[in-house]
Amino acid sequence: MQPNKLLPGSTIGILGGGQLGRMMAIAAKYMGYRVTVLDPTEDCPTAQVSDHQILAKYDDLEAIKQLAEASDVITYEFENVDLEAAKYLEERNILPQGARLLKITQDREQEKQAVVDSGLEVPPYRIVSNVQEVEAVLNEIKVPCVIKTCRGGYDGKGQLKITEETSLEKVQQFVEQKGRCIIENWVPFNKEISVVFTRAITGEMTIFPIAENEHKDHILHTTSAPALISTVVERKAIESAEKLANHINVVGTFAIEMFVKGEDVYINEMAPRPHNSGHYTIEACNVSQFEQHIRAITGLPLVPISFHGGAIMLNLLGEELEKLMNQTAEIPAGHLHVYGKDSIKPKRKMGHLTMVGASLDEVKQRSKEIIENFYK
Ligand code: AMP
Repeated sequence: MQPNKLLPGSTIGILGGGQLGRMMAIAAKYMGYRVTVLDPTEDCPTAQVSDHQILAKYDDLEAIKQLAEASDVITYEFENVDLEAAKYLEERNILPQGARLLKITQDREQEKQAVVDSGLEVPPYRIVSNVQEVEAVLNEIKVPCVIKTCRGGYDGKGQLKITEETSLEKVQQFVEQKGRCIIENWVPFNKEISVVFTRAITGEMTIFPIAENEHKDHILHTTSAPALISTVVERKAIESAEKLANHINVVGTFAIEMFVKGEDVYINEMAPRPHNSGHYTIEACNVSQFEQHIRAITGLPLVPISFHGGAIMLNLLGEELEKLMNQTAEIPAGHLHVYGKDSIKPKRKMGHLTMVGASLDEVKQRSKEIIENFYK
C-alpha cells in the first residue's frame, strides 16, 4: 500500500502526554509538524512542547473525536488506549498503526498467541481464568515459573515468581485478586535485550542496534548498546522481530524485549510504541526512534540507520534526578533529558542520561565515575 504522505505543517495528534509523547512531539516539531496532545493533566510533559492540548481523560470519546478533528494523523504513547476509541480512529483512516496492535499488546494471552502464530518458540505457558484452574496448571508447568496478570501489569507490577516454597494458596489468592493470569516457565536467561525497530505502512523496516537492558526492582535501570551477543543470537533476534512484525503488520516504532539463554532467544514482552530502551538512539544514531516513528506514521520514507558505535543510557528515577541535579553543574554528565513532570516521586521515571562514544568500551570507561557516583 502506498501511504498518503503528510508533509510538515500537518498536525499530529498524540494520545497520552508523558515522556514518550514529549519526545515524539519534540521530533515532530523539529521536522515542522504541529502537535496536539490529549491528556487529563494540564501542562503535562508532552503539552509543554506541543502546540495545543485537549484536556480530557483518555477514554473520553467526545475528546477523542475532537482530537480526530484537530489532527491529520493520530498516534499514541502507551498501549492501554481505549479499544473503542482506537477502532473509531482506525475507521476514519486517521490511525495508521490500527487498533489490532493495541488489542494484542494490551493482553499477555493475545501477545503470546501472536508470537506462536508468527511461528516463534515460546517457553511453556498456560492461562488461568479462575482459582479452580490453578492446581491443574501448576501440575503441568513446572516450578520455577511466574504468574502474571494478563492485563495491566507493567514494571514488574502484577507478577509473582513461583518456586518450590510458594504455597498453592498464595497463587490462588493472586488469581482471586487479579483475575485472568498467565503462568509461564521461568527462563534462566543470561541477558535481557531489546530489539527496537520501525516499520512503515509499505512494510519497509529499519532496525536499531540491539540493546542490552538491566533492571533494578523491575524498572529499567540501564540500557547499553550494542548488546554484547553472538552473531547467532543477533541473527535470531532480528529474524524473530521481522517475523512478528510482518505477521501482526506493525506500523511505527515498536519494541520487543527478549531473553537470551545460551544461543536461544525468547520474546518476553512487546510495546507498540517507542520504548525506554530506545532512548539512546536520540544521540547515538543518525535518526532517533521518535523521528523514525513520526516518519512512519506520516508516510515519509524511513532513514537508513547508522550508529556512532557505543551508548549507555541511565534512567533517572525521582531520587536519582535530585542527586544529579544538585551536581550537574560540576560534572560532564552526558546528554541530560528531564521530562518536566509536575512532581518528583521515588521510582517515577523523571528523566534519563545518555553517554555516547565510538565504542561501548570507550563509553564505559568515560561514564564509570558517573555510574559509581549516582547508581550505588
Ligand atoms: P515483564 O513485566 O514480563 O517484563 O517482567 C518483568 C521482569 O521480570 C523481566 O524483565 C524479567 O527480568 C523478569 N521475568 C519476567 N518473566 C520472566 C520469565 N518467564 N523468566 C525469567 N524472568 C522473567
